[in-house]
Amino acid sequence: MKIIRAEHLGMCFGVKDAIALALETARHEPLTILGDLVHNETVVAELRAKGIRVAQRPADVSTQTVMVTAHGASNRAMNETRGRGLSVVEATCPLVDLAHRAVARLVRDGFHPVIIGKRDHVEVRGMTGDLGEFDVVLGDEDVARLGERPRFGVVAQTTQPIDKVRRLVGLIRERFPKSEVRFVDTVCQPTKQRQNAAIELAQKCDVVVVIGGTHSNNTHELVKTCSHFCARVHHVQTALELRDDWFSASDVVGITAGTSTPKAVIATVEETICALVVKEFSPATCG
Ligand code: SF4
Repeated sequence: MKIIRAEHLGMCFGVKDAIALALETARHEPLTILGDLVHNETVVAELRAKGIRVAQRPADVSTQTVMVTAHGASNRAMNETRGRGLSVVEATCPLVDLAHRAVARLVRDGFHPVIIGKRDHVEVRGMTGDLGEFDVVLGDEDVARLGERPRFGVVAQTTQPIDKVRRLVGLIRERFPKSEVRFVDTVCQPTKQRQNAAIELAQKCDVVVVIGGTHSNNTHELVKTCSHFCARVHHVQTALELRDDWFSASDVVGITAGTSTPKAVIATVEETICALVVKEFSPATCG
């Protein structure tokens, strides 16, 4: 068996910085994170073990200091939180911040904002929370439901695949040929790198294992992308979910991971795949 890692995989700088800021803040004062700092249960469990609390609403916060996650939040939501007398520490990723600024600029320039992403995702809620009118689209059917506007300003959730985003922008242009459609590419570089590396990986593998949280958007997108090029794709959060009947001794196995997945989890998955195969097909070896 051969195991290949994607050229780019796992935790991005935005998530690493957010975790570091949470740990540093919690060294000095009790801290509650508003929502999941990252969409990875392993990381969240580690933070909890260090005494960091998690609350889904400001009303449930029991510490003086709260942290906004790497996914960001709207100014309105942050002001509401400060209005409760809480101190806000922002771990918003600078690339999410860029997306917020891009939307604000488009609105200022008279464009109707359209966000390509998941309506209920915390990042999209943060991007739209300060807007009056806006649309969120994720598929062709959402574009079909858009009302006509003279000017559309389109941005994307940072973790959407760029190919899908460009296709939807094209569809909006096709549907509204008389409208001005301005697109600002807000898909982050780490997402693009992981998506491109996943395509390369899936094309040369018999089976691909994608590691990441069940609520992680970019992990789900990696699963979808790999599935276009490889028939056997499995999504796991940790090594405990791996099954020996997914692999055979002659397989080339690819590994990729979402932007919230820590290095240690990736390493354990790789070792476990190897161990499963050796156990099942001894004397097979992993390379
Ligand atoms: S996925 Fe991209 S936008 Fe999100 S935290 Fe990582 S680098 Fe930042």
